[in-house]
Amino acid sequence: SSEKLDLKSLIRSIPDYPKRGIIFRDITSLISHADGFKQSIRDLSAPYLDKGIEKIVGIEARGFIFGGAMADYLGVGFVPIRKQGKLPGKVVAQDYSLEYGTDRIEMHDDAVASGEKVLLVDDLIATGGTAVAACELLQSVGGQVEGAAFVIDLPDLGGVSLLKERGIDVHTLVA
Ligand code: 5GP
Repeated sequence: SSEKLDLKSLIRSIPDYPKRGIIFRDITSLISHADGFKQSIRDLSAPYLDKGIEKIVGIEARGFIFGGAMADYLGVGFVPIRKQGKLPGKVVAQDYSLEYGTDRIEMHDDAVASGEKVLLVDDLIATGGTAVAACELLQSVGGQVEGAAFVIDLPDLGGVSLLKERGIDVHTLVA
């Protein structure tokens, strides 16, 4: 139907996952809802219809679900950013800090050309650590990050501000 759905009501909150005290926002209830999934793709893509985006870059794993569908909708290619050791070809890597320790994300070194206009996509932004690392990875190969789109923003954790401080345009659907 053409009725606007309340996407927030389609996202479940699961207490004490992955550890005690954390309330996990579960998007599986959104993507299993045909009209909810469709609307989330339309709404996430709306600001970028005429921005000359050449590639969607999705972050493992839930960024693949939204980013893949957006790439189809916008008629552009899709590039995965993955956790360490998952990509078969030659990669570029970026380390970033977690609450305890560090993590590493990787992308094929020929996936984004210098000067190419890309849109970064993930399901959720919290501290912004993952998204900032992804932007640095993209910029390290000369990618032009035209924006970053997330279904869910956890604004208290400051990730959107962090991206905006770095000059990245951010679009989110629910807080
Ligand atoms: P950040 O790096 O911004 O602190 O965390 C964001 C990353 O962690 C994203 O890749 C996101 O998928 C994942 N993440 C953290 N918390 C949640 C959550 O409550 N729900 C979902 N779906 N993903 C989360």
